[in-house]
Amino acid sequence: MPTPTYETCCIKNVNITHDVYEIEFEKPEGFTFEAGQFVLFQVPLPENPVDTQPRAYSIASAPHEAKLLFVIKVMAGGRASRWVAESLKEGDTVHMQGPFGRFFLQDSPEDILMVCTGTGIAPFRSHLLTMMETASIRNTHLFFGNYKEEDIFWKEYLEKMDAQNDWFTFVPVLSNGSQNWHGQCGFVQDAIAATIDGISSTHLYICGNPAMAEAVKKTAMEEWGMKKEKVHVEGFI
Ligand SMILES: Cc1cc2nc3c(=O)[nH]c(=O)nc-3n(C[C@H](O)[C@H](O)[C@H](O)COP(=O)(O)OP(=O)(O)OC[C@H]3O[C@@H](n4cnc5c(N)ncnc54)[C@H](O)[C@@H]3O)c2cc1C
Repeated sequence: MPTPTYETCCIKNVNITHDVYEIEFEKPEGFTFEAGQFVLFQVPLPENPVDTQPRAYSIASAPHEAKLLFVIKVMAGGRASRWVAESLKEGDTVHMQGPFGRFFLQDSPEDILMVCTGTGIAPFRSHLLTMMETASIRNTHLFFGNYKEEDIFWKEYLEKMDAQNDWFTFVPVLSNGSQNWHGQCGFVQDAIAATIDGISSTHLYICGNPAMAEAVKKTAMEEWGMKKEKVHVEGFI
């Protein structure tokens, strides 16, 4: 049976960094998903709305939340990027298909290491809230890589989650932070190695741009001795 399609309504489209938009949709009746899944939006061209093409976006809200939340990074000239930055507004009807994907947390008592850059954080927000909702918490580190201070979003939200939960550690990492940045610097894989002992006994989940995902996976397997079956990747191709 083909994956169902739904009509949904945009209820929020806000620019949260210079190139990331936080977008919320109504959850269509009958639509269900699990943390770690994504949907395809039929994305119209701003100048010709009947010309549509699908684009994949990870669901950042948790299944128990009332709305569907997404974070979308815009890139010059991209179809969905132009849609989000130039035309999508509250009240617009959007066609969506899903859910797709299997970026699920493994059913295992081992610690969790979440690694992402930019909007790759989306499925991890969903996973973290689901872990709390279903009381299936495990010792979890979230490494959030960005270029500069102004690229980090949801920082206060994640810092608060870290402060309120012993099992959760949030580590923002900047590859090009300013002199005022006192957090972790460099590539996410270097920050992980500097922060965590016994990495090989965790389950590693990586989400974001494919080059970063490949680099972290390679380091995990070749330098940290992680087994392939413990490395789980969602590449934003
Ligand atoms: C499973 C999955 C989940 C994903 N989840 C997310 C998510 O949660 N958030 C997120 O931000 N992304 C996510 N992505 C990536 C997303 O699907 C898109 O690939 C991304 O948003 C770019 O789409 P676009 O239509 O803007 O660019 P496209 O039109 O697909 O273009 C791709 C690239 O080509 C360049 N380009 C295209 N046309 C031109 C032109 N005329 N001139 C110059 N350059 C041009 C664009 O700048 C862009 O870099 C996900 C991908 C996958 C596979």
